[in-house]
Amino acid sequence: MSKEGDRIYLSSPHMGGSEIMYVKEAFDTNWVAPLGPHVEAFERECAAYAGVRSALALSSGTAAALLASRLIGLGPGDVFFCSSLTFIASLAPIVQAGAEPIFIDSEPESWNMSPSALRAAFEEADAKGVRPAAVVLVDLYGQPCDMDELIPICESREVPVIEDAAEAMGSTYKGKLAGSFGRFAFYSFNGNKIITTSGGGMLLSDDEESIDRARFLSTQARDKAPWYQHSELGYNFRLSNVLAGIGRAQLALIERRIEERRAVYRRYYEALSGIPGVNFMPEPHWSMTNRWLTTLTIDPSVTGITNLSLLDALAWRNIESRPVWKPMHLQPVFEGAKYYRHGDEDVSARLFENGLCLPSGSNLTRADQDRVIETLSGMLRR
Ligand SMILES: *Cc1c(COP(=O)(O)O)cnc(C)c1O
Repeated sequence: MSKEGDRIYLSSPHMGGSEIMYVKEAFDTNWVAPLGPHVEAFERECAAYAGVRSALALSSGTAAALLASRLIGLGPGDVFFCSSLTFIASLAPIVQAGAEPIFIDSEPESWNMSPSALRAAFEEADAKGVRPAAVVLVDLYGQPCDMDELIPICESREVPVIEDAAEAMGSTYKGKLAGSFGRFAFYSFNGNKIITTSGGGMLLSDDEESIDRARFLSTQARDKAPWYQHSELGYNFRLSNVLAGIGRAQLALIERRIEERRAVYRRYYEALSGIPGVNFMPEPHWSMTNRWLTTLTIDPSVTGITNLSLLDALAWRNIESRPVWKPMHLQPVFEGAKYYRHGDEDVSARLFENGLCLPSGSNLTRADQDRVIETLSGMLRR
């Protein structure tokens, strides 16, 4: 077999066409400098979309995670609970602020935080008289967590929740949108996400005062004075007006993008789900996932082939795929960190060992998908 055709990416930006009009408007009105009318409009539109009171447009999802943890006051001496199966940005800024992570396993039903493992972690913390300063829930690959199981465990102890909905914009839990749970939530508009501003993020909350404070912190924490005066230290984290314009055009298309990604998933599912040892990431009945990435596991004891050999076979045909996120409790940087499993099983480790993410962009052609499907079924049906 030889390399063939254009490269097929995992998840590449998908422009709708009208982005350029918003950008042109920013140029025509000379609102190229930071902030401006697109930023304010994008914030209003995102808050309305998520169904929350207030939103703050930022330069990245990571910046949003940092501000959420700063608003809660996480710092040295604090511990916090976080899904182990996630991308490092869910927690890197919180660890950098001095707080210590304790990792919680996934449940097989949603691949997201296991309520029983979270309960076990809280019971042990309660017994020691320790109160975690926050819980970070991650809606992985677009799939919302089981919020009605997880949030009451945190609320009964008055522990604030941060929802990392970076991958889950447009997904719903019992009809309510991802990005509207917890004290703070955030989206990412990185180039590979379901909608993009090329790079950006949005912090969301019903607590308007906190979002106003985050706005103050994200613009260098300038006191109200005629001169530059600072009583505390802030950041330069705002999204530019040009990029917010791209975001507004992208947001207008989000329902279509979700439908397209779900259609990509359905084609893979129809073609491959009948192969023994192949299991797709589930979509529990209480949720609707945007299927940001179509993800599956391959049981090598059944298929006789590993996820990494499939990844290589795809790469050979110029197709980008990825292993599932490597869990945080297996990361060298967090060696020795505490971890609570889902009962006797280490679910997130197994998902990592067997998992594979397939090209899932809303701009994939049928021919692109055929090439992915042929490659996989050729290897798996041998
Ligand atoms: C992309 C992503 C982030 C970070 O977003 P950036 O905008 O890239 O900083 C955080 N958490 C998860 C789970 C992500 O996938």
